[in-house]
Amino acid sequence: MAIATVNPATGQTLRTFEPYSAEAVEQRLARATQTFAQYRLTDFGQRAQLMHRAAELLDADRETIARLMTTEMGKPLVAARAEAAKCAKAMRWYADRAPGLLADEHPSIADVADAGASRAWVRYRPLGVVLAVMPWNFPLWQVIRFAAPALMAGNVGLLKHASNVPQTALYLEDLFRGAGFPDGCFQTLLIGSGAVEGVLRDPRVAAATLTGSEGAGRSVASVAGDEVKKTVLELGGSDPFVVLPSADVQAAARTAVTARVQNNGQSCIAAKRFIVHTDVYDEFTTAFTAAMGALRMGDPMDEGTEVGPLATRQGRDELAELVADALALGAKAETGGAYPQGLGEGWYYPPTVLTEVSARMRIHHEEAFGPVATVYRATDLDHAVELANDTPFGLSSSVWTHDEAEQERFVRDIQAGGVFFNGMTASHPALPFGGVRRSGYGRELSAHGIREFCNTTTVWVA
Ligand code: NDP
Repeated sequence: MAIATVNPATGQTLRTFEPYSAEAVEQRLARATQTFAQYRLTDFGQRAQLMHRAAELLDADRETIARLMTTEMGKPLVAARAEAAKCAKAMRWYADRAPGLLADEHPSIADVADAGASRAWVRYRPLGVVLAVMPWNFPLWQVIRFAAPALMAGNVGLLKHASNVPQTALYLEDLFRGAGFPDGCFQTLLIGSGAVEGVLRDPRVAAATLTGSEGAGRSVASVAGDEVKKTVLELGGSDPFVVLPSADVQAAARTAVTARVQNNGQSCIAAKRFIVHTDVYDEFTTAFTAAMGALRMGDPMDEGTEVGPLATRQGRDELAELVADALALGAKAETGGAYPQGLGEGWYYPPTVLTEVSARMRIHHEEAFGPVATVYRATDLDHAVELANDTPFGLSSSVWTHDEAEQERFVRDIQAGGVFFNGMTASHPALPFGGVRRSGYGRELSAHGIREFCNTTTVWVA
């Protein structure tokens, strides 16, 4: 993919960038390594001051960066502003809490006495240069939720961002430098995906984190495995949204719409498969379909737009193919299901609700990365659990029930990294984020996230 800003609302190429030469990449690797040697010696107070300054700058830039994100990947402007605000909040969260999250741990003397120690403790030390391979869907947030904890832990970052958000990638480098982080603490590499392997194999790179597709994750994890380097993978998801009879069905239907179409439907934690108990199936499906069909689709720069274009032409075409495959095999489009008319050259795809979906259809097993929902009828609780787990993915889940025994059943049996009751899945700095199965491994955010890129060091004193 060319490194370029192409407006998804018009299909127009606005700016193109030459990939960095081998020398330019080498300079940045060298700078990262030199910087780490000094930066790792800074204390939490110094890092926190810089991180707070970066959050202030981001707040001041909110409108500009929101417009840039919308221009590069098509999310509604209102959502882009919210994303920038959320990033500043996470930066402050880690600035204030990193000292506590990474404080030395002291097991009791009694516990370590038979290890022959008079004293022993655990110190969380930084790993070094961490490569972040990031996607375009939340072009600020995906990066900040790596960078804020990583920099607070004393690591330095190299960002290989998605090729369609180069200006957001360059903004991020400017943001950290502008806040006073030493040059080399956070650098953007404008490189194609083919150049990632060389960077990852470089002995100066200690670890990698990737958010994106399964294919990209497999590729990066294979190289990292070969080099015995730590990775965190946050890949796709096809999260279930389960509605059981004790739920407030109308509230569930309203939230289901947001959970499906947030970010024009291009979110790994978007609810994608709606599994509804037969007793409330008709009520839910009627309300959900009506609300999906009523969404305002259009220019993402318009304040009133609820659904904008998809980020890439390829993504839009792949989504249309998934729907076409389902319709050919007997699914029914309750709303949407065909390219919209009258929206010009942009990569629009309408909010779509599919029923009568079966395991023969690709959409049953694959991630629909756009505003397309599948609705399944569950005959009872067991069937609902079975359908919820009938996916190769395991990122998160949302379950609507006020019955505590049913809630406990999902806590016990759902094969996912999260379960949210009577609400939609969302990320928060205080809560770990990540999945199992084909959704990846490792965790971001919370104490778990900041410790992923630490050397958990045992100190033992005779
Ligand atoms: P990709 O996974 O291709 O892109 C994500 C990042 O990985 C980009 O920086 C990309 O670079 C890079 N990359 C891609 N292939 C490789 C590789 N072999 N080695 C190293 N780096 C690589 O996502 P797409 O944009 O192609 O989207 C495809 C699908 O991925 C979506 O439909 C969705 O299913 C899933 N996805 C999931 C996301 C999530 O949040 N979990 C986010 C985005 C996508 P470059 O842009 O240069 O190709």
